[in-house]
Amino acid sequence: DGDISISNLEKVYDDGAEKTKAIEDLSFDIDSGEFVGVVGPSGCGKSSLLYLIAGFLETTDGTISVDGEPIDGPGTDRGVVFQDYALFPWRTVMENVTYGLEEQGVSKEERRSTAQRYIDMMDLGGFEDRYPKELSGGMKQRVAIARTLAYDPKILLMDEPFGALDQPLRESLQDQLLDIWRDLEKTVVFITHDVEEAVYLSERVMIMTRRPGTKKTVVPFDLDRS
Ligand code: ADP
Ligand code: ADP
Repeated sequence: DGDISISNLEKVYDDGAEKTKAIEDLSFDIDSGEFVGVVGPSGCGKSSLLYLIAGFLETTDGTISVDGEPIDGPGTDRGVVFQDYALFPWRTVMENVTYGLEEQGVSKEERRSTAQRYIDMMDLGGFEDRYPKELSGGMKQRVAIARTLAYDPKILLMDEPFGALDQPLRESLQDQLLDIWRDLEKTVVFITHDVEEAVYLSERVMIMTRRPGTKKTVVPFDLDRS
């Protein structure tokens, strides 16, 4: 579970005065459990692609399917991790992590035990009652990852999640993410403008480029990780 199929995807932003073609005729498949990095310069359409897969944006044309079913808006099969963490500042670490489960109507006791499992997995034990402003950037992103993992999405969509962190912290979170990916068997789509990061993490890297005009392209290659 967790495969993604994108066919003839097109995204045009139209603000009335101007049309911007962000994605043009893009097709590719991502296998269940695959870790795919997406790299490319600013403005090439990476975020548009991610938020289309998330179901936050509507496609202009083409289809995105998850496990063979065309998506229809956001769903708990897909979890998103943002560069700026997007935690609820008025909620504690525990309350942030249980949030997604509340939405799903899970009982309070089960919410807490599930959240605790992911809090521990992200090395946040002891910080359950802290508020986001009391945490470092790296810790905030670990809370955000725990919050997303807690409702067990098959697919993790990550938008430059470590972009705001310094290099040593990035490296430790990259390794932690790889452990999670292996242990929990998630499909990961990971956006970054850092080619080295994409190559380090991914089984397959998609390179999106800005061509003259509006044409976008994707070039995958397989990395030998043996
Ligand atoms: P897959 O889904 O296995 O990646 P496809 O049949 O969808 O294969 O695509 C054939 C090849 O063309 C793949 O390497 C794919 O990544 C690449 N490709 C898909 N869409 C585009 C595009 N818009 N521009 C350039 N190459 C593309
Ligand atoms: P990236 O994530 O690679 O920087 P984006 O997906 O954010 O690229 O943007 C792709 C293109 O779409 C850019 O030309 C950007 O200016 C444009 N764009 C993104 N969001 C909007 C929007 N809400 N309205 C109009 N244009 C947009």
